[in-house]
Amino acid sequence: MQQIIQLSIFPFGMINCFLIKGQDKHILVDTGVPGSEGRILRQLEARGISKEEIGLIIITHGHIDHFGSVKELQEILKVPILIHEGDKAALETGMSLPDTLKANHKIWNYTLKPKLLHDKAHPCRADITLTDGEEYDLAPFGIKGKVIHTPGHTPGSLSIILNDGSAIIMDLASSGILLGGIAFSSRMKHPPFHDDLQQVKDSIRKVLSLNTHTFYLGHGHPVKRAGLQRYLEMI
Ligand SMILES: [Zn+2]
Ligand SMILES: [Zn+2]
Repeated sequence: MQQIIQLSIFPFGMINCFLIKGQDKHILVDTGVPGSEGRILRQLEARGISKEEIGLIIITHGHIDHFGSVKELQEILKVPILIHEGDKAALETGMSLPDTLKANHKIWNYTLKPKLLHDKAHPCRADITLTDGEEYDLAPFGIKGKVIHTPGHTPGSLSIILNDGSAIIMDLASSGILLGGIAFSSRMKHPPFHDDLQQVKDSIRKVLSLNTHTFYLGHGHPVKRAGLQRYLEMI
């Protein structure tokens, strides 16, 4: 059974969030830009998943294209929210962490960055806050896997590693052209921003050391191990 389902906020994998299917409850990972709640709920419904089956929302990091609809979804789903303390200020202010938006290409300074800095989500508080390298076991949801701290894209970036070898690493890397795109969907590239490239490398090494083979991304389509290894050599 495929456990991770990609929920695209925009076509072609330009902005993704994910559902992890569990034996007892499912987990929603990220919530898209502000106003994405309807789009997310409709995609769940189309797959026969009811709101009551969701048990947790994980916010992987403090960029508004990933937590933009968290407050709305918290109210609709009535489930706890998990984030890392390094990024919780974004959730609490409703704004992206400005210091982490260091563009990897100057095009992002003129296009995406002003939008990410300007857009505002409804502020919200997390119920579960991980600290430093703390891990979070997903066994209570009937999911064999864990949430781990993978800083670099932002100080509090989180990844989800499942025992079957699939992993959601969100913005540690990207694939495709621009944000995702219709072509070159397996070609690796930098996400638009990172906070600390050395930490990104260390986090990718950590993820690769955990018997992983398929990596789900915030922008672009999933990539295999060889692709992520190639990206690590590139940066
Ligand atoms: Zn990001
Ligand atoms: Zn992103």
